[in-house]
Amino acid sequence: MTQALLKTIGIFGGTFDPVHIGHLRTALELRQLLELDEMRLLPNAQPPHRDQPGVSAEHRLAMLHLAVEDEPGLAVDDRELRRTGPSYTIDTLHEVRAELGEQVSICLCLGMDSLVALASWRHWQQLSELAHIVVAARPGWHLPVSGEVADWLADKVVTDPVALKTRTAGRVFVEELTLLPVSASRIREDLLAGRSVRYLTPERVVHYIDSNKLYVE
Ligand code: ATP
Repeated sequence: MTQALLKTIGIFGGTFDPVHIGHLRTALELRQLLELDEMRLLPNAQPPHRDQPGVSAEHRLAMLHLAVEDEPGLAVDDRELRRTGPSYTIDTLHEVRAELGEQVSICLCLGMDSLVALASWRHWQQLSELAHIVVAARPGWHLPVSGEVADWLADKVVTDPVALKTRTAGRVFVEELTLLPVSASRIREDLLAGRSVRYLTPERVVHYIDSNKLYVE
């Protein structure tokens, strides 16, 4: 008998300071590959692991909305910006799970750089109780082979993405993606130096940055 496939929601977190085509292409490609019903871009309020963002949460959120406005498969989830205090992914997943219920599959999408540092995240071992983990790996990157993250991964890794739609959480899937060579820090540097960032982020975001004079000092 064929197993019924669950409704599946992806979550792609980041600072998005600002959002760019690298984020958007990866989100779209993962949505297609995993056949997600929806991919949510989820901006972090106070990332526990990095410096504070360069512009306000309101600006980062407005740019995200502009960036996905004409792509029905991508959505924005602003819950971390509405919370006070640091953004912990485990708290976010608890909230999303409570809202979606126990019959929906949730895929938390991370870069390999985040996965390698996973053991520094709050209650990291519980993440897989609430969601699957999907790792977008640049060609040449490999999963950790020793240490506590490797031990934790051992019985979770699957190679067929359908496995993410037959249960609601608990699996780890790695997809090799050629990531576009764009970063938010490079965009901020270009703007500070007075250079154009056209084509690195959607045109509407470029206009928003220009009209609000963002990242120029
Ligand atoms: P910064 O340059 O300020 O560090 P960033 O461009 O890496 O920012 P983040 O908001 O920190 O953007 O990243 C959010 C998520 O997007 C992370 O999982 C990160 O690995 C991923 N990401 C960043 N750049 C790219 C890219 N060019 N292609 C695909 N994914 C990317």
